[in-house]
Amino acid sequence: MSKIAFIDMEGVLIPEIWTFLAKQLAISELNLTTREVADYQSLMLYRINILKKHKVTLAQIQEIIKQLEPMAGAFDFLTALRGKGYNIQIISDCFEEFLQSFVSKLLIPINAVYCHQLQLDAEGYITSVNYSRTQGKQEAVKNYPFSLRHSIAVGDAFNDFSMLSAVTKGFLFAPSETVLNQAPAEFSIVYSYEEILNSNF
Ligand SMILES: [Mg+2]
Repeated sequence: MSKIAFIDMEGVLIPEIWTFLAKQLAISELNLTTREVADYQSLMLYRINILKKHKVTLAQIQEIIKQLEPMAGAFDFLTALRGKGYNIQIISDCFEEFLQSFVSKLLIPINAVYCHQLQLDAEGYITSVNYSRTQGKQEAVKNYPFSLRHSIAVGDAFNDFSMLSAVTKGFLFAPSETVLNQAPAEFSIVYSYEEILNSNF
């Protein structure tokens, strides 16, 4: 039976996309995160309105995102996990349309990426989100009930907690202090890919 590594994207394999967009577009309102707006869907509605107000289309966003590179060592980390017999599944709260350039840079098959999709209007502005799950990342993990005993998960934030709890070994990767303070004791706290690869799992 194949072993699975469920891996978050932003903050683990790639930098935070919205922070980069806020900087490149010089729109400080886009720096708001789930720390300021607790509900993710409300935060996305807010972001969609800001983008429309500043007349930023998805195509413009995708051009900016192409400049952003995966984190140093991310590609080798995935290669090493595959070498240990792990099937990589990306579980992200980002959007397929934002992740396309990273998926090709990291050679991740698109059918191994579980994320959300954006809806556009005729002019190419983002209008809404098609959410692929409603309860959280554990929904995606539970599609593999028979493999969980041999599976690991890696994530950096609150939205990863349910996924990290659902597998044998959950790695909390370079968390912020706020996230770290609320992390369950059973999570393994790590700050590098090497720490994950060198731990016993
Ligand atoms: Mg993350």
